[in-house]
Amino acid sequence: ADTGALDARMSVCRACPRLVRWREEVAAVRRAAYADQPYWGRPVSSFGPADARILIVGLAPAAHGGNRTGRIFTGDRSGDWLFASLHRVGLATRATSHSAGDGQRLPATRIVAAVRCAPPANKPTTAERDACRPWLVRDLELVRPTLRVVVVLGGFAWTALWPALEQAGYSVPAPRVPFGHGTRVELPGTGVRVVGCYHPSQQNTFTGRVTEVMLDTVFGSAAALAEV
Ligand code: SF4
Repeated sequence: ADTGALDARMSVCRACPRLVRWREEVAAVRRAAYADQPYWGRPVSSFGPADARILIVGLAPAAHGGNRTGRIFTGDRSGDWLFASLHRVGLATRATSHSAGDGQRLPATRIVAAVRCAPPANKPTTAERDACRPWLVRDLELVRPTLRVVVVLGGFAWTALWPALEQAGYSVPAPRVPFGHGTRVELPGTGVRVVGCYHPSQQNTFTGRVTEVMLDTVFGSAAALAEV
């Protein structure tokens, strides 16, 4: 599977006028502050191999995180929590993620976002979620031959995932199961497990709604289920 061609097509997507404006405005204003580094300011690609056994579905890139560095969950506090946990359970080669060329690798895991452009206040609209679904569908098709576990970070991504799974040809049990931390759903036929996890957003980590132990438990059990 050619992730390069997929990334190239997505990187020029302009389907959501509000998000295109925002990602470019933020980039234009902030390029000055990060003058020594390139500032991405475009849709953010998925990170990890096409033959991943574990797929992690996040919400959307952060304005000064993925939108700046061009790598999902990279350059912001949520990403610091996520990569540190993935490293503790053996799913990431390094505990931190900075930018392309830092040596970070996820040998069996691919991280994707429900919405690929940074939204104002980290809140995409439902129309933007639906407009971005084709890119999520492509990722679900890409990993299908090897996929064992999908870890979904937060209720927004959980809602975005189910129609995308259906469009990608997975069978999905009815009725839909509501999002919950630790909720598990098995997809009929494939045995793929979908697991809910609170998003490691600053709000959730500050308030203790999600802790390092909680993340390590979810990702450790995902690694065990996926036999990584
Ligand atoms: Fe395109 Fe998705 Fe960005 Fe909308 S959020 S412009 S659909 S890549």
